[in-house]
This record gives sequence, C-alpha cells and structure tokens, in this order.
Amino acid sequence: MILGVHAWVARGLDAVLGEAREHGLGVLQTLPYRRHHPPTEDEQAAFRRERAALGLKTLLIHSRYAPALASSHRTLRARSQAHLTNELRLAAGLGGDAYVVHAGPYSPGSDAETGLKLFADAVLRGAGESGFPGAILIENVPGGGRRLGGTLEDLARLLDALPARVTAGACLDTAHAWAAGYELSTAEGALRFASRAHRLLGDRVRAFHLNDSLAQVHSHRESHWHLGKGRLGLEGLRVLLEREEYADLPAILETPKEPGADAENLKVARGLSTLSR
Ligand SMILES: [Zn+2]
Ligand SMILES: [Zn+2]
Repeated sequence: MILGVHAWVARGLDAVLGEAREHGLGVLQTLPYRRHHPPTEDEQAAFRRERAALGLKTLLIHSRYAPALASSHRTLRARSQAHLTNELRLAAGLGGDAYVVHAGPYSPGSDAETGLKLFADAVLRGAGESGFPGAILIENVPGGGRRLGGTLEDLARLLDALPARVTAGACLDTAHAWAAGYELSTAEGALRFASRAHRLLGDRVRAFHLNDSLAQVHSHRESHWHLGKGRLGLEGLRVLLEREEYADLPAILETPKEPGADAENLKVARGLSTLSR
C-alpha cells in the first residue's frame, strides 16, 4: 500500500500539502473545507498547482458533513444531498482523485433495503450534479443498529446498486471493521477478511484507512488509536499490507495527531511490509 496521513485542514490548505512534504508521502487525505471557510476558486486553483508541483500521486477528500443520505426523512435527506453535492464540487475543485463517504443509518420504521436504495440514489445524484470526475468511495463503518455499511456485504450491495457510469468503490477502515466484528487482530482473521473482501468486492476495494483501536471487537464503537498500541495490534495489519493486490492502493492513517505521532505511525506501517511505502 502507498501510505498517507489524514492532513488537518484547520490550519489551511497550505498546511495540508505541508504534511505530505514533511513525511515524503505519495498519498494524502483531507476534508473539503475548513469550518466556515470553503476555499475560493482562486484558492482551489492555487492548491491544485501546488499539489501538482509536489507530485502527490493520490488525494482523497473525506466528507466533512456526516450525511443522512439513507434517511427516509425528506427534509433531512434533502439537506444531506445538498451537502454531498457541495462537497463533491469542492473535491473536484481541489483536484481530489477520490471522495470518501459513510452511508449513515436508515430511518426508524424503515429497513436496510430501503436505506441502501436511498443512499445509492443520493450518490448517483451527487455525482451527476457535481460533475466530480474522481471515484466515490464508500467507507465501512463500525455498524450496529440501523447504521449501513458495517459489513462487506453492505458495501457490495451499495456498490451493486450504483450504475456503472458512476466510478465508485470501497474504502476499508481497519478500526471500523474491528468494531463491526471482523477479527483483524490475528493473521487468520485478517486473511479471512481479505478473502471475503476479495470475493465480495474484488478490485472495487480502492483505498484503506489503517487504524488501531482502543475499542473492543464487535463493540460498534470507534476509537482510532496509534498502530500497534491498541487492541488490534500489528499481526493482522501486516497480513493486509502484505497483499499483492493492495500494493498500489492508498492507505491513510487516521491516528491521533499528537506531536511526532504521524512520523512514528508511518514508521511502524513501513516496517510491517516491503509492500508498504
Ligand atoms: Zn471515515
Ligand atoms: Zn476511516
């Protein structure tokens, strides 16, 4: 995998690219805008120029607004749709290669089938309205309750519901998979996960989020932590990093941003496999 970090947009777009420069990264993830400060067209153009000069291979834009795109609530869904389209336009303006989004829950009294359909419709519409030329990646979530996208089966069904003209794929988060019940702490568990992902999603797996977790397996709780310092450990991560079919995929660390932590986590990930770079 090609390693990257989730760069903080709070310090501005210059600082975002500075993180790639600092760590010598080929890939990077960030949010589409700073709170209350969507980038102007000039700022977007400057960012694209600087990114090109930097030679960053892949830029992922992660949705900032937690969308309720699977909701049956008309007003809520309309608002979420507007946010999605707006974020996809910004992702295009920033030159993002992929946009990462979570499915969110379906409404009480509704069902998963309906929620999946509503979400797929929203993604289709957002792709059309925004003209975002990159890939829309649906990320697995900790799952539980009415939350969609906790399982690889959910991701496959969501992607199957999208027409081929939408470039879509899956982004697999190790901490979320762990929270959803996949035993990624052992080599056997990670191998089972990878085989299942291969069978259900094939080459639609387009990115990874590499995180350890302080939460228990199957807890449906999200608690991202430094690689090798949480309950997930390194044995399973090594198995994923060793997979040939993932060798060229972006892998983003979303571990806590304490001073020096990104450098340390990158070192740990690079040390796990010759295929991680
Ligand atoms: Zn996410
Ligand atoms: Zn993630």
